Amino acid sequence: MSTDRAIKNLQELIRIPTVSRLDVAGTDWEPFDDFLAALARLYPVAHSTLEREVIAEHSLLLRWRGRSSENPTVLMAHFDVVAATDEGWEHPPFAAEVTGEGNEQLIWGRGTLDDKGAVAAILEAVEGQLTVGRTPFNDLYLSLGHDEETHGTGARAIAELLASRGIRPALVLDEGGAIVTGAFPGVSGPVAAIGVSEKGTVIVSLLVEQQGGHASTPPRMTATSRLARAIVRMHARPFPARFNDVTMEMFAVLGRHARGIFGLLFRGARFTRPLLLAAFARISDETRAVTRTTAAVTMLSAGLAANALPERAMATVNLRVAVDSSVADSVEHVRRAIRDELVRIQVLVASEPAPVSPTHGTMWDLLVTTVERTHPGTLVAPYVQNGASDSRHFASVSDHVYRFTPFEMTKAQRDTLHAVNERMHVATYLRGIEFYSALIAAL
Ligand SMILES: [Zn+2]
Repeated sequence: MSTDRAIKNLQELIRIPTVSRLDVAGTDWEPFDDFLAALARLYPVAHSTLEREVIAEHSLLLRWRGRSSENPTVLMAHFDVVAATDEGWEHPPFAAEVTGEGNEQLIWGRGTLDDKGAVAAILEAVEGQLTVGRTPFNDLYLSLGHDEETHGTGARAIAELLASRGIRPALVLDEGGAIVTGAFPGVSGPVAAIGVSEKGTVIVSLLVEQQGGHASTPPRMTATSRLARAIVRMHARPFPARFNDVTMEMFAVLGRHARGIFGLLFRGARFTRPLLLAAFARISDETRAVTRTTAAVTMLSAGLAANALPERAMATVNLRVAVDSSVADSVEHVRRAIRDELVRIQVLVASEPAPVSPTHGTMWDLLVTTVERTHPGTLVAPYVQNGASDSRHFASVSDHVYRFTPFEMTKAQRDTLHAVNERMHVATYLRGIEFYSALIAAL
């Protein structure tokens, strides 16, 4: 593999502004066409060897035929990105500038970490293996989605297509966990956090409708104050905190390496659970989200004039459902917390938590040994992903769905996801290519 070429290819892909928008009609689809054309140009051997289908207008499904179609693998990534303006960026989001030298060399831009870096790394690996004349034993599919950040229709259509063809992947690997540092208390070294499940998502609206009128003669409770009270009540009654089985297993792994008080707490997690729950609730937003279903009020609207009582007040609440809970439980919890029949709760989006993939057996072991080979000294731990990924659509076709991108991410870098100054170390990207190459060679 030419590393210069690999870097240039990623730069070129970042410069194409494939910005995902909720408004499908208002989306500029030209960059998406350009992106697909760029893939064909930058990875010519893969493009001419793999069977290629465009799904749901802009998503891409590639099939590399192995000697057997019995136990196929699906590598997933997405090439849409969330919007970004130049404001606040040290290097513009779509310029793909490379700065620094040696180990400090960085590539800047929207999509470096989420998730064009993975798209490029996977394709570099495939191109590299093809160039040296390798063929995987089992079929390899690449599922490259175009709308993960908004609708996820591309990945869903691909999963449905595979199902309709009777294809049951032995392994599905999508974005999600990464090689993180500073994410777990007491653990100083890098941890490859592999998502074996992900939380569900529920979006509900809280709606209060009542008679309008002049602002000079308000009732005791206006629509807005009723809504505000509902939100306060919801926050005053958080979802129950507990650790699921996956988190307990994660503690067992961390416990073998964590030092100090957290080493003791992790190793004795069966008994120290209450202490760990209290600690996780405080350490960070990331760790708190691990312990429970979360609720975030993301949008508020009410009122049409400064001197008129609002007839409608509405809040949008984004709930992330813990794996041992359900959509129905979460909505019921909100209803009870609010305890006000005049606040109408409407479910707008509902998807259950993903089934938990096993943390033993051939596929899990393959991921662990590949990480150990390309990222020596890295601890591998299962976890439940807080955010949703396209891989949730694949739970119906495979029992082994994992969420892991082989990129090192510091806390500072994780904070740039969906924010300003998203960037990746060049060395991280190159090691990521090695991971995918080693994985493909073992399939
Ligand atoms: Zn992503």
